Amino acid sequence: MNNLVSEIKKLVELNKDKYEELADFLWNNPEIGLLEYKSSDKIKSILSEAGFNIEDKVGGIDTAFFASYGSGKPVVGLSCEYDALPGLSQRSDTYEKCPVEEGAAGHACGHNLLGSGVVGTALVLKDYMDKYNLKGTIKLLGTPSEERDACKTFLGRDGYFDDLDFALTWHPESANRIWGGGSLANTIAVFNFKGKSSHAAAAPHLGRSALDAVELMNVGVNYLREHIIPEARVHYAYLDVGGNAPNVVQPTASIYYFMRSPKIEDSTEIYKRIIDIAKGAALMTQTQVEVDLKAAIADYLPNRTLSKVLYESILEYGVAEFDEEDFEIASNYFKTFDDETRNAGIKNTEKFFGKEKAAEMLNKGLTTEMRPYSGEFEEIEVITSDVGELSHYTPTAQMFMATSAIGTPLHSWQMAAQANTSIAKKGLDATVGALALTAIKAMQDPDTIKKAQEELFSEVGKYKTPLPDEVKLRNPKVEP
Ligand SMILES: [Zn+2]
Repeated sequence: MNNLVSEIKKLVELNKDKYEELADFLWNNPEIGLLEYKSSDKIKSILSEAGFNIEDKVGGIDTAFFASYGSGKPVVGLSCEYDALPGLSQRSDTYEKCPVEEGAAGHACGHNLLGSGVVGTALVLKDYMDKYNLKGTIKLLGTPSEERDACKTFLGRDGYFDDLDFALTWHPESANRIWGGGSLANTIAVFNFKGKSSHAAAAPHLGRSALDAVELMNVGVNYLREHIIPEARVHYAYLDVGGNAPNVVQPTASIYYFMRSPKIEDSTEIYKRIIDIAKGAALMTQTQVEVDLKAAIADYLPNRTLSKVLYESILEYGVAEFDEEDFEIASNYFKTFDDETRNAGIKNTEKFFGKEKAAEMLNKGLTTEMRPYSGEFEEIEVITSDVGELSHYTPTAQMFMATSAIGTPLHSWQMAAQANTSIAKKGLDATVGALALTAIKAMQDPDTIKKAQEELFSEVGKYKTPLPDEVKLRNPKVEP
């Protein structure tokens, strides 16, 4: 073990209690997007006590904050999330679906770990900077409501990421790996139709049905699907169907659309075509349509230069080391998956480690090695994350560390349960060490930062989001 790694291990040990307690606190107080008051207060108090400077309510968002330490360049962004998911409350002392509180929120995406891991990284990095007089600024980005509102979209558009030299983050998962591929961009909009109510039997000719308009719009979009790029994904959900009486012409109807594709430009293009379809449906039904754009989340651009440093750092620092007790817990959760989920976990492990090694890991229920990283742009993942947005403004690298049994789906009760186990804590410790090591290495090497920035700016130039200035974050108290 080299000196730097052993020094970081010592600092991780010194800060462990603080960030592990934070992980428990967040898990025990799950709060959904934009309502993460207790969670953000707790994080701010830990960092402020450690000497960080807090900039509160960034961008006018109550639960957004930045915590900075140090001064001058380089400015290291550490992306921190702490929102939970509605309806996914789950106990961690059982191998059955069983909520702590019926209908309550739960950390089924493990953001209690994500948040505390990033806070731990900031604390370790600060201690190292103090001890070795390392110059630069840590900027922990407290970005709320990743799951639903993609807050980073708004913060990025409003210039809050412009001073960053590079950014790092992680996400809990069931594998140890670099996020080497992109993600799907997502343009999100609600189409609100207004018609005219009337007695459906006695005076149908006086009514104009908003529900008809939405149905025609969806038919139009179904035909559109044949003529967009095959990687695109277009989905919808009804928000308002205008009532439940067949005998009344429905005067209002609203539909919620996700328009995803591997590049934000393609999502924007599909969105424009869907607006035309909505207008066509309104014309056919003599109704009016109003388009409410909610977000335009860019695809993830893995910065290869920075991802390579992160990859080497994880190999040097070491992935989570589990023991027999962890293997037993993981195997018990693995048994709760249905056949399809289990098989997907098995296939995925075999794909990256070969049959023999995969069988060894599957026997333990946990990923015990780092997945190889090519250093090139890898396969696109069919998910969306607002880290994609951050990655367009500053070179960004993200890692995943195993904190749950092989094959555990995100947003499942099993993920929520395992986010509060010894498995999660070990994944957390290894993450804090690897992220701190990466940050220190990059801070000490201006050439790496320069190369990472050149890579980003040669690909996207100065990013301009398609989200207009007038689109504001929704108000959680009045909007669904
Ligand atoms: Zn997540």
